[in-house]
Order: sequence, then C-alpha cells, then structure tokens
Amino acid sequence: MADTFLVLGDQLSFDVAPWAELSSDTVILMIESAELIDQARHVTRVSLYLAAMRAFADQVVERGFTIDYRKSTNFSAGVREHREAFTPDRLFMNAPRGRHARSLFQRLGVEVLTDKFYLTDVEEIRARKKRPTTLETFQREQRQRLNILMDGSTPLGGQWNFDHDNREPLPRDGGTWPEPWFAPLTTSEQELVNDLRHHHPGDEALKFWPRTRSQALDQLQDAVERIIPAFGPHEDAASADNWHLAHSRLSPAINMGLLHPAEVVAAVSDAFYAGHIPLPSAEGFIRQVTGWREWIWVLHQLRDETYPSRNFLDARNPLPQSWATMGEHPMRCIEGVLGHLHAYGWNHHIERLMILANAATLAGIDPQALSRWMIGAYVDGAEWVMEANVIGMGTFADGGQTSTKPYIGGGNYISKMTNYCKGCAFSPTVRTGPTACPLTTLYWDFLLRNEAALATVHRIAPQRRAALARPDRDEIQAQAPHAVQVVLAGKRNASFHLDS
Ligand SMILES: Cc1cc2nc3c(=O)[nH]c(=O)nc-3n(C[C@H](O)[C@H](O)[C@H](O)COP(=O)(O)OP(=O)(O)OC[C@H]3O[C@@H](n4cnc5c(N)ncnc54)[C@H](O)[C@@H]3O)c2cc1C
Repeated sequence: MADTFLVLGDQLSFDVAPWAELSSDTVILMIESAELIDQARHVTRVSLYLAAMRAFADQVVERGFTIDYRKSTNFSAGVREHREAFTPDRLFMNAPRGRHARSLFQRLGVEVLTDKFYLTDVEEIRARKKRPTTLETFQREQRQRLNILMDGSTPLGGQWNFDHDNREPLPRDGGTWPEPWFAPLTTSEQELVNDLRHHHPGDEALKFWPRTRSQALDQLQDAVERIIPAFGPHEDAASADNWHLAHSRLSPAINMGLLHPAEVVAAVSDAFYAGHIPLPSAEGFIRQVTGWREWIWVLHQLRDETYPSRNFLDARNPLPQSWATMGEHPMRCIEGVLGHLHAYGWNHHIERLMILANAATLAGIDPQALSRWMIGAYVDGAEWVMEANVIGMGTFADGGQTSTKPYIGGGNYISKMTNYCKGCAFSPTVRTGPTACPLTTLYWDFLLRNEAALATVHRIAPQRRAALARPDRDEIQAQAPHAVQVVLAGKRNASFHLDS
C-alpha cells in the first residue's frame, strides 16, 4: 500500500510543495468530475481544464509516478473508487482554493496541506491586531515586503501608483493591439473539443489558452515582450472591435497552476529593469498580481462562509437568458461583451466590471446568479476569485466590505472609455424616452432607489445629492422599470440546447 497525493485541475504544478518530497511509489490521483463538467457554461472553459489535466497526467507518468486518472460522477465517488482500488495508507492534497471543495475533501477525510501557490501568508495577516483594510495599503506592503520596483523604502519613480496616467480612454481610431498568443491544438485536443461541443455552448477557442507548463511559459514570454509594455495607459478602456486590447490573458494559466505568480512578477520586473517595459505599465501590471490577485485571495480566506450569499441591495432579478446563453442583446455594449465571451470564454476586466457587473448592479440582478454563471462561463472562473470581485467589487452586494462605493457608471462613462455606444439604438446622454440608454436611466434611478441603503456610503454622497437634485427625477423613476426590462431582455443563443 502506497500513499496517494490528490491533484485538482487548478493545481497543475510540479514546482510547489510537496512534489519535491514525494517518494516515487506515491500514487497520483486525478479525478474528472462529470458533475463539474456539466456545470461548465462554455465549451472552452471545460475543454481547457480537461486538456490541461490530461497533459499533466501524461507528465506525471513521464516523471515515474503511478497515476490513477479517474472519470467519476463527482469527487466523492472518485475518492471512494480510488480507496477501494488502491487502499492507500495516506490520502493527501494541497488545500483546495474554493469553499465547497475545501469542506468536501475535509468531510471525505483527505489530509489537506497548506497551499503554497500564493505570495502572501494569510495566517500571518489573520494574526495581526491591525490588518490592511484597502488594496492600496496592502499593495504598498507587498511592494516593500517583496522588494518590487523599490529604491530602498521609496517606490521607483517616486510614486506608488500611476493610476492617473493609466486611465486613457480607447484611442479615437480604436488603436492597434498585439495579436493574441495561441498554440495549435493536438489531434486529441481537437477530438475532445468536438465531443464537448455537443453539450456546451460557446465557440471553440481552446488554442488561445495554454494547456501545458511549456505553453504557459511561452505565453508569459510573449506577454512580457509584446503585450504588457502597452498595458498601462489603456487598462480602463474597452473596444467593440477587439476582445483583448493589451491585457496579458494570463489569468487561466495562473489560476490553474501552470504559472506561479512569483515568476510572472519576476519576468515583468526584469523586463522593466532591462528597459523593455515602461514604469507605469510595469507597476500597473504588477499591482494586478501582487495587489489585486493576492488581496482577493486574502479577503476570501478571512471571510466566513456566509459572505458569498450577501445581497446588501436586495437584488432579486434573474440572470437574463440572453446572458446565460451568450445570445443576442438590444444594447450594443452588452451584446458585444457577450459576443466576446461566446467567442473566447473570457472578457477582460473592464468588460466584466464596467459592462456586465455594472449593468447587473444597476438592473438589480441577483449577485449569486451572476457569480455562479461567471464561474462556469469564464476560462479563469473560480469560486474564490468571484467572491470579492462579484459579490464585493462588481455588485456591492457586501455593502462596502470590498469597495468603498459601488462601481457604477451610466452610458456617458461607457461612451467615454469605449466605442460600444457608436451605432447603438440607445443614446448615452439621454435619460428618459424611447432612445434613453438604460444604463444612464438606471444610474440615476439606482442612486434614488437605494437612497436609504447608501446613506452611510460617504464616497457616493456627491452622486446621491446630484440624483436627488435632478429636476427630471420623477421621469427617471417612471422610466426605470422599462430600462430594467431592456437589460433583462435579448434572445437566447439558438445554438444553446441545455436546460440552464
Ligand atoms: C465581475 C468580475 C469577475 C471576475 N472573475 C474573475 C475570475 O473568475 N477569475 C479571475 O482570475 N479573475 C477574475 N476577475 C478579475 C480580472 O477581471 C481577471 O483576472 C482579468 O480580467 C484576467 O485577465 P488578464 O490575465 O489579461 O489580466 P491582466 O489585466 O493582465 O492582469 C494580470 C493578472 O492579475 C490578476 N488580476 C487582475 N485583477 C484581478 C482581480 N480583480 N482579481 C483577481 N486577480 C486579478 C490576474 O491573475 C491577471 O491574470 C473578475 C473581475 C470582475 C470585475
């Protein structure tokens, strides 16, 4: 009887503990869960995980380990079947990152080790009397602790962030953007995609996402050389004509374990010192990884299990079928973002935050439904990341525990930062009447409707006062139910056959 080490689909790394200490007779258990496959809401999401897990299993064998690669109904069945077949003395794994998986594997009696896949020691933060309360204080701490872009105790360039320089709208001509990295599919990957396409919506876009460690390193090098140098200035923009702009698209590789955040940061910092990446872009990008990603992880770990079900604004509208199936939508911004998602299984941050989450917040869509859908549809979707991003930052469903005010914007903001409003049936500057942009109407209505709930949210007080002072506030509130119906409208994607 040997020991068994269980590896999940987001733990695909040989470079973290305990791999170096595993004896060669350790059995490696990997489980394809039919339940999880069914929950995926995009063919690219599910094919990416399965292709990467299968490639990793081949490498496990190349390294001389025995693999037990199981296709089971769910994780519980996979563990039970493995125990029956192998009767291991010890069954252990690195801590799962999601709440459900953590409690499930504990219930199943699997020994759980500390996850070494982050840059931050959450327990050290938990033990402090005074913990960081904002991303900004956390990120300054990270810069100093990890000694990144620092000159002694001073940040390089004399300032901690370059947000001011990094808020450029989309260039008037739409800009030119580096072609996305891709790696052609193997024959077995193509067969996998062909099989899954019958059961999952979305276009096949697997080639745009790395499935192996060597592809992930190749994508990282490509991002450092061609993409991240242009990241900073336009990080808040979005384009109807381009799905990626200068975003690295590294999130799936990092989330699956194919890249460690430390090596991503080191590659970008080295390129900065070599003069290939300007400081605002290097700082802006590194802040995403050492700051945002780690901060979201820390928040997830420090919050209790009631956090994901928060609904501070009592938003109860259903997730529209047009969104769930990435179908047609009357608003050009939502239709465009759903189109990008359908085609690639991914949206960049601004499309998620300022179009989808913004529209959901303004139209009162249930934050838990939004979160569940995003976890299944995005190639980088993960329960732990969605919590602070969707329940916190995206929808303000936690009442301000993550952001000091709701991230909301009307049509004017979308029009300023993107080209989505060109050719749209609705006008971003119009608040009421048939051509009113639903986001513009709902921006003002949101502030009026949630007047009491937002009374103690000081950073939104000027906008609340402006809403209360609007001479057309009655007309706005009369128009609002219609605007909500427009956001909830649209057609299901005809190629979507599942009951969802
Ligand atoms: C509503 C909403 C849902 C989101 N859902 C997810 C999700 O399921 N999975 C996920 O990984 N990210 C999620 N994010 C965060 C962010 O949008 C993605 O990480 C980012 O778009 C990935 O693209 P990129 O690799 O090009 O990122 P870049 O802009 O190039 O940033 C570099 C890296 O920083 C990290 N990062 C940046 N911002 C965040 C953030 N807010 N939270 C966590 N990590 C961050 C990612 O690892 C990313 O790869 C969500 C954001 C919002 C607003």
